[in-house]
Amino acid sequence: MTDLPAQWTHAPHTVLAFRPGDTVAAIDANATPGFSGNKADAPGIQAQRNERLAELQEMLYANSRAGDGRSVLLILQGMDTAGKGGIVKHVVGAANPQGIRYTSFGAPTAEELSHHYLWRIRNALPSAGQIGVFDRSHYEDVLIVRVRNLVPPDVWGARYDEINAFEKELTDAGTTIVKVAMFVSLEEQKRRLAQRLERPDKYWKYNPGDIDERALWPAYQQAYQAVLDKTSTAHAPWHVVPCDRKWYSRLAINELLIEALKSLDLSWPAADFDVEDEKARLQLL
Ligand code: AMP
Ligand code: MG
Repeated sequence: MTDLPAQWTHAPHTVLAFRPGDTVAAIDANATPGFSGNKADAPGIQAQRNERLAELQEMLYANSRAGDGRSVLLILQGMDTAGKGGIVKHVVGAANPQGIRYTSFGAPTAEELSHHYLWRIRNALPSAGQIGVFDRSHYEDVLIVRVRNLVPPDVWGARYDEINAFEKELTDAGTTIVKVAMFVSLEEQKRRLAQRLERPDKYWKYNPGDIDERALWPAYQQAYQAVLDKTSTAHAPWHVVPCDRKWYSRLAINELLIEALKSLDLSWPAADFDVEDEKARLQLL
């Protein structure tokens, strides 16, 4: 049974799933896989699906109060301007902040560097009932770190297996992981960076270093390919989301989260008190 809006001809979690053999080079960032509608349809659907997401999140949270230890972890990875911040604002932002644990991962601090790279990740995991949101993640440790040779190849090379084992540990412990690789095209990135430079209200998002990373695009494509090839596992598969059309990527990722929550088969926890007794007691006061 599905309550997926009719414009979705294919469920996003299947149509966007990374499949062995898929190549990053072949991704059309402008495409809208599985969606037959257009931009004009998006606001109405987004509003309705934001509401659904909020309802399911509240249910997850409510169940944790009743002892359910499960949680969800959304991992957002993508080049600058892919729209990670927009997902946080327009998708995750629909949910009650009480049940969200949001963390963005930038260049490690001195303290973080003195620990294993998963240390800061472990410190940011969602607890029972929460949706954890990673804006960048441990995958930076096999993306920018690989592209920029921040550690030797044998060190980053060993991390794929380590990450798979780490994520297995998380899923075994009751965390459903939703991994989203957000792909923007080189041309669209240029437009978005140019816009940031035109608008004083966007300067804060601009970082001169973004151009340096942009110059390494082919190396990043290779590094993303390796991530998808090596870390798309049964317990934590990757989803590949085209992001040149923000309205599409937001709709799609909203659905990926809804699907993850639905897979938990949640319902409202039963009262652990006698409802009729309590009504009667309330009447007396
Ligand atoms: P932003 O997300 O725009 O604030 O940028 C954060 C920057 O930190 C990006 O350029 C990331 O690639 C970089 N970054 C994140 N994690 C790491 C890491 N583990 N090592 C080095 N750089 C990182
Ligand atoms: Mg940035």
